Amino acid sequence: MLETTTVGSLPKPHYLAETEKLWPAWRLAGEALERAKERAAVEWLRHQEAAGIHIVTAGEQHRIHFVHGFLESLEGIDWEKKTPMGIRDNRYTVDVPTVTGPVSRPQAVHLNEARFTRAQTDRRLKFTLPGPMTICDTIANAYYTTRADMAMAFAEILNTEARELEAAGIDLIQFDEPAFNVFMNDVKEWGVDALHRAIDGLSCTTAVHICYGYGIDENLRWKETLGREWRQYEEIFPALNASRIDQVSLECADSRVPLSLMKLLKDKGLMVGVVAVTRHRVETPDEVAATIRSVMAHVAPERLYPCTNCGMAPLPYEVAVEKIRSLAAGAAQVRKTL
Ligand code: ZN
Repeated sequence: MLETTTVGSLPKPHYLAETEKLWPAWRLAGEALERAKERAAVEWLRHQEAAGIHIVTAGEQHRIHFVHGFLESLEGIDWEKKTPMGIRDNRYTVDVPTVTGPVSRPQAVHLNEARFTRAQTDRRLKFTLPGPMTICDTIANAYYTTRADMAMAFAEILNTEARELEAAGIDLIQFDEPAFNVFMNDVKEWGVDALHRAIDGLSCTTAVHICYGYGIDENLRWKETLGREWRQYEEIFPALNASRIDQVSLECADSRVPLSLMKLLKDKGLMVGVVAVTRHRVETPDEVAATIRSVMAHVAPERLYPCTNCGMAPLPYEVAVEKIRSLAAGAAQVRKTL
C-alpha cells in the first residue's frame, strides 16, 4: 500500500545539460553525450532506490524535452518550417515544427534507453511518453484534416513504441497529457479514444498524467486566473474513470484542486502529487504525510500512489533529490500507521 513513484522527468546534472531550464542545451556530443546520459540515468535510479521509491524512472535523462524528444525521430515533420503556436490555449507562444505529411516512425525511438535502464535496476520501472493530445498541442498541423485525425496518427505510432517498451521489460507506461485540463471537450470527444489507441494490446500497467504544469512563470500566471478552486478535472474525470487506463496522476500538494473530485475516479489507481514542483522549498516528511492522510479521506490506500505533482525537470538537482527523499519518508510514515 502507498507505493511511491515520481511523475517522470527529473533534473539533468550539470555535466549533461544546462540546468534549471525546460529546453536545456546538451553540454556534450556524440559518444560522450550518450555515456553522460547513461551516467545521469543510473545516478537517478540510485537516488530513488536509496530513498525507497517503489516504481522508479530514469527521469528522461535521454531527451531534452518530453514531447520533442519523441518527435525528433519521426518522419512527416518539417523541423525547419516553424509555425508560431499559442500552446495550451495560448498560455504561451512557441515557434513549433510543422507536420507536413503522414507521420511515421522509421525506427524505435526510446528502445535502447529502455533496455539500458531495465538492466540497471530490479525495481519496477516506469517509462513516460507524450500523450497524443499534448503532442498535437506542441506541433503545428499543415497536413491532417483535423487535430483529432492527427492525434490518432500519433497514437498509432505511440502504440508501436509502447509495445516495444513493454517487451523490453517496462512495467508501467505513462502518457503525459497536460493538455487534458485545457481542452476538456476535446478530451471527451477524441482525447480518450486516442489514448485507447495508444494503449491498445498492452498488458503492462498504463497511466495518464494530467496536471497544472511546471513552475514556469507562464503557468504561475495562468493559475492565478483559475479562481479559488481548480475544478477543470471535474469535467474530464468521469470520462477517465470510464476509460481503460489503469492509473491517473494528478497534483494535490500546494494546489487548489478540491480533493473531493477524486471520488470521480473510484475505479482507478491514483498517483497523487504530494510534493509541489512550483517552488524550491522542500516539503518535510510530516507535510507529505499530512497531504497523504487528507487524500485518504477520499481514496483507499490500496489505490493510492504518493507521487510528485508533475515533472521536476526545471528544478535544481539537489532540491529534486531532497523532495524525493521527503516523498518516500512521508509515505513510509503513513504506511506504518495503516
Ligand atoms: Zn505535469
